[in-house]
Formats: sequence, C-alpha cells, structure tokens
Amino acid sequence: MEERIGRIRERMAAAALRAGRSPDEVELIAVSKNHGPDRIREAARCGLRIFGENRVQEARAKMPECPGTLSWHLIGHLQRNKAAQAVALFDRIHSVDSVKLLEALNQACDQAGKSMDIFLEVNVSGEGTKFGFSPEAVPDVLRHGGDWPRLVMVGLMTIPPFTQDPEGARPHFRQLRAYQEQWQQETGIPLESLSMGMSHDFEVAIEEGSHWVRIGTAIFGERSKAGMQ
Ligand SMILES: *Cc1c(COP(=O)(O)O)cnc(C)c1O
Repeated sequence: MEERIGRIRERMAAAALRAGRSPDEVELIAVSKNHGPDRIREAARCGLRIFGENRVQEARAKMPECPGTLSWHLIGHLQRNKAAQAVALFDRIHSVDSVKLLEALNQACDQAGKSMDIFLEVNVSGEGTKFGFSPEAVPDVLRHGGDWPRLVMVGLMTIPPFTQDPEGARPHFRQLRAYQEQWQQETGIPLESLSMGMSHDFEVAIEEGSHWVRIGTAIFGERSKAGMQ
C-alpha cells in the first residue's frame, strides 16, 4: 500500500506541475468505503490522514476503531434525516445536493453549536441518474447563502460520467472550473476549491484545477460489492 500511495503522490505532483500549479495545492482523500478499520489503520500508517466515506452508518461503525487523529469527509449522497449524524461525525461534506439538505445541515449545526465546510455537488453533465444541483440552480443557492449561516460554502464538487478513457472527463472538469469563476464573479462568494477526480481520472482533474482528489481503488484495490471487509 505504501508503494501504491507513493506512486499516486508522484502522479499527483507531476499532473500539478504539468499545469503550472504547485503540488501543495492538491489534497489526497483516501476513499475507504467498503474497507474495514484494518485497512484504514494501514493507510494511516502510510501517512494518510483524510478519509472519505459515502455512507453515514458505515462510517460511524468504523470510526471508533480508527486513530482519533484522522479527518473524515463525507463524499456520498446524504439523506436529510441523517444530517445530525453527519454533522457529528464529519469535518467536511462534499456532496450537498439540495436546498432541503442545506436547511437540514444548517439546523443540525445550530443544534450542535458548530459550523461545517461544504461543497455544492453540481451535476455538470445533466445525467438523470446523478445527484447534484443543476448548474442553473447554483447562483441562486449561493446568493441565499446567508439563510444557512452555519454552513461555509468552500467550493464545488462533481462526478463526471464514466468513460474508459479518462480524457472523457476533461470537458466536465473544465466546465466546473469555468462555473467556479463565473459564479464567484456573479455572487461575490469566494468558492475557493474544487473537489474532482477519482482513481481513474485524477491526473486530468488536477490538470483542470482540482484541489481535492478522492481516491479509493488506486489505494486500497478493488472494493468487494458485498460490502465492508
Ligand atoms: C467511491 C467514490 C470515489 C472513489 O472512487 P475510486 O474509483 O475507487 O477511486 C470518489 N468519489 C466518490 C463520490 C465516490 O463515491
């Protein structure tokens, strides 16, 4: 695993340099869904600190068996009725995809006396099967940011349609970056970072401006479909 992580870090740095960026601008999130605490502890021993999970219950079951020094990010669709648990467990949420969820998270943060850094998930491709705000909806959501004072909108996240060739993702990443600049100008909200890129396409995402890559398979190997192991 240490070798795999080392190679990923080299590829991340090379992609940043190709785009004239500093490698320090890009953070690696180890996506540990479907992997048990043993693998997470192993990854932590290899120096990884930020872990991404996409289900609240699964994360909650594993966290007590993992080092207390780790930072956990929620990257998967969140149901409103789990907002309070998500607020208690995670440091960041990458997958905020509806106004109702914004309301639920703000209320949960109020009750917990916390604030939360969030990314708005944007359905750039318009695929019907994907979660996320439609791009047309986002400027209004940003202008209403004051309605959810506990939430800090730190950026935008997207998941492009899968294509065999990672180059297929490039137009979607480039579009998210263009939206970031456009919406920043239109609304004055400093959307500082982009969460984009997975095992298969993270180099393309970094070339197109990603600050957070979410990598599972390239670190841990294939996930079993049957669930945690
Ligand atoms: C599973 C998942 C990832 C990681 O995918 P890999 O292809 O295993 O790197 C990244 N982002 C999200 C939202 C995911 O659900």
